[in-house]
Amino acid sequence: MNVPDCIFCKIALREIPSEIAYEDDEIIAFKDNQPLAPVHLLIIPKNHLINLNDVTLEYENLIGHLLGVVRRLASEFGVAESGYRVVTNTGTDGGQVVGHLHFHLLGGQALEAKIG
Ligand code: AMP
Ligand code: ZN
Repeated sequence: MNVPDCIFCKIALREIPSEIAYEDDEIIAFKDNQPLAPVHLLIIPKNHLINLNDVTLEYENLIGHLLGVVRRLASEFGVAESGYRVVTNTGTDGGQVVGHLHFHLLGGQALEAKIG
């Protein structure tokens, strides 16, 4: 299979090491290596979608599944009750650096109220 030259695809294929928190056939979650909060996970589809602009109707089940994984990880990492933030940066103005759809799960401290 022709795999894009993508750091997150390589993490999903375990060609690049990461601290994996969850994995199934469609989704992988791992610790951000430059954490911005005590809990900072990245949850991604294994399929190389670039960002939310690629999430057409055919992927709605996948995204529903992914958000279920986010909920489960929030509980496992002990932030479900204290609260957390889920962010997906999209495109240049959205601050997206890695061009593979990913959801940040941030928690473990009071996050700044400000968005944007
Ligand atoms: P974004 O700005 O939304 O594209 O965020 C990309 C995130 O990926 C950043 O928080 C980086 O710290 C994180 N990141 C980049 N490379 C790696 C890696 N090899 N392992 C874990 N996290 C990474
Ligand atoms: Zn990719």
